[in-house]
Amino acid sequence: MKIQLFYPRTIVGCGAHNDIYWPLTLLNITAYVKNYLHDIEINIWDGELYPNNDDLIKKLDHHTAVVGVSCTSFNYPHALEIAKEAESNGSEVIFGGLHATYYGETILKNRPYVHAVIYDKGEKAFLQYLTFKDKSKVQNLIWRDGKKIRKNSLGKRISLDELPSLDYSLLELEKYFENHKKIYPDFPDKPMSAMTHEGCPKRDKYGPCSFCSITSSLYFRDTKKFWNFTSKAVEDYGFNYVKDWGDSLTGNKQFLEQLISARPKSLKDLSFSVYDNLSDINQDAFDFLKKLKVKMIFAAIESANNEILRKMNKQTTKEQMYKAIKLISKNNIPIFTSYVLGERGETRKTLDETLKFAQDIREISDVRVSNGSPMAILPGSPNFERLVQKFPELKNQDLLDLTFLREIWTKHFCPDIYDYKIIEEYAEKIGKLGDHINRYGWNFLKK
Ligand code: SF4
Repeated sequence: MKIQLFYPRTIVGCGAHNDIYWPLTLLNITAYVKNYLHDIEINIWDGELYPNNDDLIKKLDHHTAVVGVSCTSFNYPHALEIAKEAESNGSEVIFGGLHATYYGETILKNRPYVHAVIYDKGEKAFLQYLTFKDKSKVQNLIWRDGKKIRKNSLGKRISLDELPSLDYSLLELEKYFENHKKIYPDFPDKPMSAMTHEGCPKRDKYGPCSFCSITSSLYFRDTKKFWNFTSKAVEDYGFNYVKDWGDSLTGNKQFLEQLISARPKSLKDLSFSVYDNLSDINQDAFDFLKKLKVKMIFAAIESANNEILRKMNKQTTKEQMYKAIKLISKNNIPIFTSYVLGERGETRKTLDETLKFAQDIREISDVRVSNGSPMAILPGSPNFERLVQKFPELKNQDLLDLTFLREIWTKHFCPDIYDYKIIEEYAEKIGKLGDHINRYGWNFLKK
């Protein structure tokens, strides 16, 4: 049996992987399924590596039995184009990902060419989909039973430690390496995407940020297994740098300490880039990060106004973040900063405060990327639910115009900002402060 998995490119700005890192979820699903089904062929196609969606559609093969598509709110129009074409080829089409998780039943109602949707995590559900004749037994599946749309119950999630070794030969590795080098020429040249943990310690304790739609639960890996897994990948593919996609490594200092002490000698020079909640960074946490050989820190600042930060549920303050950034800068570690503009009650004054903060940080730090984004109102996030209260029909629209959503959000929740374009102007000014311009999920800037 032949299976193709697609991660379509975003329709606006750049995607989360930004053509330098691969879609790890698809690689995980492939490894899990192939561990049980040895006689299947699976390909992974990452749209971020292709200039447009038509080029990706050309990768569809008429002999493919099942086409899986990973959907985000940013790539969804492209996902639909792929699905239509795949279905007309005679393939079964199954959607997964955060957008499909939110809109599963609506997708099946509105899109006859999509056969089923997997909500939540996909590894076990996809294996069951391929092997169970009775679809009512497949966990996390939304499917058509005659004219009815059924939603099966949520099954047990597979932890990162239950995954077998990943098959990196399925990826166009050289393309990722080449693209990474263009942005980070002074970094090790063979980055590897991995996860030391899944989920966000801040979200686990205090709930999501107002714009966050991620649903994974918190799980820190068995450190021995993590290093075994990494050693094998380094040995087989020559990776020399780890991009850790876990949401905040410093959110569990005990784990971080264990991770460092379990590190094998053979990997002592392997460096990392990590996400960190700046409120977790103090001297102790920083010493651990240095021991791990962290080469870059992804720091989500979002706003420099404490009231806006409170509304975002960031659980930190401008002062705390500035202190953490000073510590990072003193140690000459480059940072990737991000700012989210347009929280409830945002005004020109709060935008000015955030812009000034971003400029101050530029003065004291090695800012590789200063990513200013107008807030995306993502399905599943608390702010999306706030918008749904005013526009209930959004619940039934799987195809969203994200710019329109930002415009109506600004009109209703940021009444002092009379024109959404003002938010884009600030995002542009902040974006230009970094060495490299990154337009995550929006399109105003020209490269
Ligand atoms: S946006 Fe980041 S810090 Fe906030 S809840 Fe989501 S993962 Fe955690």
